[in-house]
Amino acid sequence: TAQDEVRFRPCLDDVAAYKPGRPPERTDGRPTYKLSSNENPYPPLPGVLAAATAAAGDMNRYPDMGAVDLLEALSERFGLPVSDLAVGTGSVAVLYHLLQAACAAGDEVIYAWRSFEAYPIAVQLTGATSVRVPLTEDARHDFKAMEAAITDRTRVVLVCTPNNPTGPVVRRDELLAFLDVVPSNVLVVIDEAYREFVREPDTVDGAELYRDRPNVVVLRTFSKAYGLAGFRVGYAIGHPPVVAAIRKCALPFGVSQVAQAAAIASIQAEQELLDRVEALCHERRRVVGELQAAGWDVPETHANFVWMPLGDDTVPFAEAVQAEGVSVRPFPGEGARVTIGEAEANNLFLQVARTWRK
Ligand code: PMP
Repeated sequence: TAQDEVRFRPCLDDVAAYKPGRPPERTDGRPTYKLSSNENPYPPLPGVLAAATAAAGDMNRYPDMGAVDLLEALSERFGLPVSDLAVGTGSVAVLYHLLQAACAAGDEVIYAWRSFEAYPIAVQLTGATSVRVPLTEDARHDFKAMEAAITDRTRVVLVCTPNNPTGPVVRRDELLAFLDVVPSNVLVVIDEAYREFVREPDTVDGAELYRDRPNVVVLRTFSKAYGLAGFRVGYAIGHPPVVAAIRKCALPFGVSQVAQAAAIASIQAEQELLDRVEALCHERRRVVGELQAAGWDVPETHANFVWMPLGDDTVPFAEAVQAEGVSVRPFPGEGARVTIGEAEANNLFLQVARTWRK
């Protein structure tokens, strides 16, 4: 009977499992490409692999739990004290820690929707309630509506900029004005997973923004621009009490020594990696330009993906692209998110998009 069964917290009952991007499938031997997880198409640099391989020789030992060298490297890179930095098993882990630290049943977490699929899951696991504020018609944050959604129960606001999966970046003035109206006891998490791909000057850098705002914390990652998704390293920039809360919630030894070494080597090779990011931004301009020339009305994108507003056509479109050996991320009934990847992959996707009846 139900009484004899192991019981779990009721808030877990309808938690949807996180769905990773599908790998591409093909049986005719032609190459396949994955444009469904916003990964970087470039493999790690040889120097990064060498550093990771050297660290692998010590894998019989636990990693440095304090990630001292990595925090030091980040501290130098940003000109910030180590006490303002925390690393985690990908920025998604840091997000989980922040929500676990700040929220309990009955609390509310506000975020724009649609946004990153991990947000509703991470909120629900704490027992708190998601308050989703619809994006505007042009896929941007609606800060007036987000302000109106703040209540006495609001504990956290999540701001994803550039927004996954739609692409727009939040402008300087709208973000500063919003932060001015958020109560100082509400934590504002600015998720900048795609920051390095932003080419819009009218934005604020989270690493500057948080300095005189103790309730603001910024999330960054090595998964996207730095191309280390498989290593799982992300970090937070925030004030010492926020960083301390993250550290308390972190799993012991969450970031492996191999991952720490790869991240440090990537910081050292940053210029080379940012040149790759520049090439991807260039490719993004080409893809968006070709989509517009073909009559597609796609939202602005400052990330390594583009949003195709396909509505009911989303699943058939994703299947048509898949038939070319390229996987994209469908959000049935809404649209598809397509990562900017290798030129050949982008071309296969564009070929389908050009001939699609709109
Ligand atoms: N935030 C956003 C907006 C993302 O799109 C992603 C990755 N899909 C993440 C955070 C998590 O990245 P990671 O855990 O690899 O650092």
